[in-house]
Amino acid sequence: MKFFSFSTEEKTGIGVETKEGIFNFTEAFDTYQHAKGARQPVSLNFLQVLVEMGYCSANTIKKVLSDPWVRSREERLRLTEFRYNPPIERPTKIIGLGRNYRAHAKELKHEIPKEPIFFAKSPSAITSHEADIVIPHWLDERVDHEAELALIIGKKGKNIPEEEAMSYIAGYTILNDVTARAMQKEDLAHNSPWFRSKSFDTFCPVGPFLIPADEVPDPHALEISLTINGKEHQRASTSEMIFKIPEIVSYISKFMTLSPGDIISTGTPQGVSPIKHGDVIEVTITGFGTLRNRVVKEQQI
Ligand code: MG
Repeated sequence: MKFFSFSTEEKTGIGVETKEGIFNFTEAFDTYQHAKGARQPVSLNFLQVLVEMGYCSANTIKKVLSDPWVRSREERLRLTEFRYNPPIERPTKIIGLGRNYRAHAKELKHEIPKEPIFFAKSPSAITSHEADIVIPHWLDERVDHEAELALIIGKKGKNIPEEEAMSYIAGYTILNDVTARAMQKEDLAHNSPWFRSKSFDTFCPVGPFLIPADEVPDPHALEISLTINGKEHQRASTSEMIFKIPEIVSYISKFMTLSPGDIISTGTPQGVSPIKHGDVIEVTITGFGTLRNRVVKEQQI
C-alpha cells in the first residue's frame, strides 16, 4: 500500500494505491470521520499533515478503507485522472548522505568515510514525478543523476538513540539527487560548500509514492536501479550502504532536531553519469514503483 499526493483540475489531495485500485484518501478519510461521528473532523489534504498526525501507516489505510460506510462509497472514491505531486513539498530540510556506498566513493576517487558525511539540499529543489529536470541555460558543465532511497521523518526528535531510530521513520520514497558535478568538484577543490551544486530548482525529483514504514520490513534489502532512455546505469542493493539507516538518523539528530516531513536521502550507489537535454531518467526501487523525469535545457531568452 502506498500513499501519494495528487492534483486534478479542481483539487489537490492524498491518494492511496492498494491491490483493489487507486482511491482518493482525502475523501475516504472525510467519509470515515463522518461515519464515526468525529466531533472535530480534520481535513487531510496534504501528506505532510498526515505524517505529522502519525497516520502514515498501512494500518491507517486498512482501517479507513475497510470501514463499511467507506466501502459502500468505494466506486465514488476511485481516482482516475490526476497528476502526481511530490509526496512531501515543504520539508524543513533535505539532508543527503555523501559517499555512503563504497563503489560510488571509489568512482569519485574519494576515501571511504569513517563517519557519515551529510549535506543540505534546498527544499525548493523538490519536483514531482513526470516533471522536467531543468538545467539552466548558462550551465554547460556536467550534471549527474544519483538514484537514492530516501526516508521521511515521522516525529520530532533530537539525540535519537540508534535502537529507537526506526520508530522515527514515517516511510520511504525514491529520490534523484541531481548534482551539478563539475561545479561540486570545483567547490570542493576550493574548500567551498557544495550546497549550490545540489540545490538548483528541479534538482530534487522525489516520489511518486510515500511507502509507509510498516510496508517496508527491511529497508536494507531493496533493489535500486536507474536507467537513462531505457539503458541501465545504476543497480545496487541498499544492503551495500556503509552507514545503515538507524546510524544515519541517530547521527544527524545529534546536530539538529528532526521534524515530521524531513527528508533524508541515504546516498547513491556506483554508476553516476551525466544527463543531458532530452534524456528520460527512471529510478526504480522494488515495490516502490518508478520515478520518471525528463531533462530539459532551459532556453536562453
Ligand atoms: Mg547523493
